Amino acid sequence: MNDRTAYTGIDEFRLAAALLVITIHTSPLASCSETGDFFLTRVIARMAVPFFLMASGFFLISQYACDAGRLWAFLKKTAVLYGISIAVYLPLNLYNGYFSGKHFLPELIKDLVFDGTMYHLWYLPASMLGAGIAWYAVRRLGFKKALIVTLGLYTVGLLGDSYYGIAEKLQILSVFYQNLFEITDYTRNGIFFAPVFLVMGGMAAEEAARGERLSLRICGAGLGISFLLMSCEGLLLRKLGIQRHDSMYLFLLPCMYFLLRLLLFRRGSRKERIRTWALLIYIIHPMMIVGVRLLAKLAGLESLLIQNSLAHFLAVSILSVGCSIAAAELYTGLYGKKKNSGKHSAVQGKDRAWIELDLDNLRHNVTELRRAMQPGCELMAVMKAESYGHGMYETAVCVSRMGVNAFAAASVEEGIRLRRFGISGEILILGYTDPERAGELRRYDLTQTLIDYRYARLLNRQRQTVKVHVKVDTGMHRLGFGKEAVEQIAQVFTMKNLKVCGIYTHLCTADSLEAEDVRYTKQQIGSFYGLLEKLKERGIVIPKVHIQSSYGLLNYPELPCDYVRAGIALYGVLSAPGDRTRLELNLRPVLSLKSKVVLVRKIRTGESVGYGRAFTAERDSRIAVLPMGYGDGLPRNLSCGRIQAVIRGQRVPVIGRICMDQLMVDITDAQGISVGDVAVFVGWDGGLEVTAADLADRSGTITNELLSRLGGRLVRTTAGM
Ligand SMILES: *Cc1c(COP(=O)(O)O)cnc(C)c1O
Repeated sequence: MNDRTAYTGIDEFRLAAALLVITIHTSPLASCSETGDFFLTRVIARMAVPFFLMASGFFLISQYACDAGRLWAFLKKTAVLYGISIAVYLPLNLYNGYFSGKHFLPELIKDLVFDGTMYHLWYLPASMLGAGIAWYAVRRLGFKKALIVTLGLYTVGLLGDSYYGIAEKLQILSVFYQNLFEITDYTRNGIFFAPVFLVMGGMAAEEAARGERLSLRICGAGLGISFLLMSCEGLLLRKLGIQRHDSMYLFLLPCMYFLLRLLLFRRGSRKERIRTWALLIYIIHPMMIVGVRLLAKLAGLESLLIQNSLAHFLAVSILSVGCSIAAAELYTGLYGKKKNSGKHSAVQGKDRAWIELDLDNLRHNVTELRRAMQPGCELMAVMKAESYGHGMYETAVCVSRMGVNAFAAASVEEGIRLRRFGISGEILILGYTDPERAGELRRYDLTQTLIDYRYARLLNRQRQTVKVHVKVDTGMHRLGFGKEAVEQIAQVFTMKNLKVCGIYTHLCTADSLEAEDVRYTKQQIGSFYGLLEKLKERGIVIPKVHIQSSYGLLNYPELPCDYVRAGIALYGVLSAPGDRTRLELNLRPVLSLKSKVVLVRKIRTGESVGYGRAFTAERDSRIAVLPMGYGDGLPRNLSCGRIQAVIRGQRVPVIGRICMDQLMVDITDAQGISVGDVAVFVGWDGGLEVTAADLADRSGTITNELLSRLGGRLVRTTAGM
């Protein structure tokens, strides 16, 4: 997330939430109105902790989190904080006689996991436990089901909290809760309370990323109404006297839902510092309560600072805020610089050879392609071969967040990988799949291409209901039913285990505007639509129809279809440098290919460089060694001056033969190049561009091949994620 899209509202509200937590523990209105105090501390302030949880969920819980890295980082950080907080409060624990209880060890374990060793510290284990549960539930079940499960947990929590009076009256429930309260003092904990808010936070983040938003008015009205209902609920439950504890309300859920969405409207720059302040205020304020008491006693100001609840609250708040800010600033002053210079993680992977993805450009291309498509037609994002070398995870997640709901892959493995990343919607397998793998097709809800009649029958025999698209060969003579095979195709629609969801063909020369090729393509298109007509005449309801890949769209944009299967254009490039198309879209390349100078050396006239001594210096020269080679996907036939890299805005030729893991460039004529400089092989540097299409052309191939071979070993870094 970059600065432009930071959610300032969430950061800022943390401060308000931290102050609300102080009200819970100081009861500012206690000395004037009991009901007022209840309303402030047991209703309004009950929004504070759920807010913290939702904010954590917002940045942590993602349907697309394929690796657990962020969760581990969160758990580790919170655990360290918890450890420190426990240590900080040990003196108070000692003073309170915490260690003299009878069942010390079981009590300690209970406190460590659920209740906190100091009353307010329960939040830290709860957020860890809750994050684990929420993360796992969303990962396994997706957001909707995870929400239902965690709502279930919350309901169990409610009946042990504000609604305990009801549970108490029912035999089974009361036995259940009696046992439960042996293990934990409250249901307001990491199992029953925290998960639902974390899930809701994650949902809000996903919706925001997709650009889905409620209007400001709806959010405001929603918050107002649910807050009113929650207030009535709280006051009523209190009147009825059925509360065992007062942390959980039914209407707290919609309240939090609308509150977070309202806060999302406030965008601006990141406010990391406020985050730290709020956290510190939360952790240290009980200490400040003790401090104020002590101070009051020493100064003889008890009547003001303790008896007057409002003054007490103000004193604690001012002290907490002041100390937190001072501590945070002191810490950054002492360690901030060190932390910055140790920012290795940001450049990790940029120490050798890497791919840089510009996801803003990918999003731009999606919009551009959608604009070019006929109304009602959907984009099918082609993700085969690691998304043409761009990285399947990064690209699939990015486009799916834009609402792209159809994907294409080459194999079952690729399809399953997409599902594991949390991709929902249609995934079409374009190539052959062994019919015996029908079970996997069904389990992962993949759609299989029928490559001919014989294949359709084999797949049908597997006794697994599988979604399929019929492929028609209209002239490429690769996969598909013959264009005359009306009878056979009609039969496929009657096969019991095949659910025909689509029918398509592939154009083999749509990239060319030569008259002969255009004629051929029009023939292909004609025979495909002709076939559809014949199927219609037989009473078959035509499923989703698609013909165009990238060049199909660019040269034949007017075809009425349900999908466009876009690959190369989605990644912002054309197959060959000189290609002209009828529709000229403003597409932007997504990928850059870069490496780093690791060694600069001098060689004398007559000395050679690299394998086979293919380069011999004709003058005293300076060369730079870059750790990238054909093992990274840079074709070996680009050796010996065929291409130039750009370093510090200057073009420098590759000399000698490209090795598997390194290559050398001649920098004799360039200025100021030294170890650590970045060399650009595809992309922009200092106003100079190297295009993938040009590189491919020089290598005697097309961009598609060059990109898809930029395989396994290159690290991918993203901008605009
Ligand atoms: C690869 C492929 C595409 C995508 O082609 P681009 O030219 O990259 O857009 C579309 N359809 C089929 C059948 C493919 O194999």
